Amino acid sequence: MDLILASNNKDKLREVKRILSPYGFEVKSQSEAGVHMEADETGTTFAENSAIKAKALYDILHTPTIADDSGLEVDALGGEPGVYSARYGGPEVDDIERCYLVMEKLKGVPDEKRTARFVCVITYIDESGEMTQFDGKIEGRIGYDRVGDNGFGYDPIFMVGDRSLAEFSDDEKNAVSHRGTALRKLEEFLKNK
Ligand code: IMP
Repeated sequence: MDLILASNNKDKLREVKRILSPYGFEVKSQSEAGVHMEADETGTTFAENSAIKAKALYDILHTPTIADDSGLEVDALGGEPGVYSARYGGPEVDDIERCYLVMEKLKGVPDEKRTARFVCVITYIDESGEMTQFDGKIEGRIGYDRVGDNGFGYDPIFMVGDRSLAEFSDDEKNAVSHRGTALRKLEEFLKNK
């Protein structure tokens, strides 16, 4: 089965492809499907933004569509950066600087209060336009430096046990990640349809 992912994020695409391909799904990006768009993420929750992205793509293609909206929630920052994870600190800030920004904001915050989680909501829209959502999360804490070269985004500062997620191999990350969990729920749903 072909699924088109409503995203221009190549790191997400790589992970989604790797997670779903063993189940026989062929995942293509919107640009591989010839669509060039950036939906306005005007929602205030991951579920809303995920639905907005999937719907915008489905309205163009009318074929099975998926979207991933995800982000980092840091408890000591009241859940920030949350739905603003990709834009935290402003448009001129890159992923590396965003990691430092989070650590800077946590300066002086002790280990036990550095708890955080990655959250992901996957939206699936079938051929007829019916929408279903699946969620996943992974708990961890924010470290004191960027560690590891794998993954993307905030992975180098997100500690799971004594390793950052950027020190996990692709398969290790996908086995425990917010994205892996949500996508395996989607797979289970499609299997039973
Ligand atoms: P979205 O495109 O609005 O869903 O933005 C997701 C943002 O959350 C990404 O740009 C990253 O900053 C962050 N994020 C989501 N998932 C991950 C992950 O698996 N690792 C690291 N950062 C992530």
